Amino acid sequence: MDTLNWGKKFEEAGALWRMNYDNLRGAHAELTSDKHSDGYCNCAKIVENPALVAAVAQALIEKLTPSFEGTPPDYVVGPAYGAITFAHEVAKQLGTKFAFTEIEYVDGKKTQVLKRFDIKAGQTALIIEDVKTTGGSAQSTISVLAEKGVTILPEVGLLLNWSGEATLGNYKAVALVDAKMNVWEPADCPLCKQGSKAVRPKGSWDTLAR
Ligand SMILES: [Zn+2]
Repeated sequence: MDTLNWGKKFEEAGALWRMNYDNLRGAHAELTSDKHSDGYCNCAKIVENPALVAAVAQALIEKLTPSFEGTPPDYVVGPAYGAITFAHEVAKQLGTKFAFTEIEYVDGKKTQVLKRFDIKAGQTALIIEDVKTTGGSAQSTISVLAEKGVTILPEVGLLLNWSGEATLGNYKAVALVDAKMNVWEPADCPLCKQGSKAVRPKGSWDTLAR
C-alpha cells in the first residue's frame, strides 16, 4: 500500500487532517501549544482500532524489512506514550521482543528513559515512533539505548513524518505518510490573515477546511 493511500486511510479514521488551501473559508488548527497549523494528527484514532494498528505495523515492516538484511532486531522499541502500541505490534509480527522508553523530567527537561527492560549492549533495536514533528522523543530514545551500547538499526519507522526531513539525526526516517506541516505563532499565521478561523481540532473536526 503506498504513502498516498495511508494518508487517505488516516484521514478516514479521523487521525489526520491537512489544510485544503483551495478552501480558506474553512477553519485551520489551533494546537495545544496555542500555535496555529495547517495539519493535525490524533493517533488515538488509530490506536483505538486494533485491526488498523495491525495493518499499520504490517505496512511498516514491509517498508523496513530491507534494512534488517534478513536478521530481525532483538527488540522493537518506541517512546511513550504514542509509539508503545505500534512498537508492540511490530515486535509481535516480527516475532521479536518489545520495549518502551518513558517520559521523565531531568533538570526540568523532558527526556526518555529506559526503566523496565534489560536490553543489553550488543543487542539490536528497531525504533518505531508514531509522529515525527521535531523528532525529539525518538532521538531521546535512540540516545538512551546507544549509551547502553545497543545497536540501533539505520532506519526509524514512523507512521507520519510531519517534519519534511528524510532523516532523524543520523538515521533514515521511513514513514507511511510524509506530509509537511507548517506551524506558526498566532500573530504570524498566514491562514488567519486570509480569513480562515483557528479552532481546536478535537471536537470541531468537521469545521476544518477540506
Ligand atoms: Zn491562524
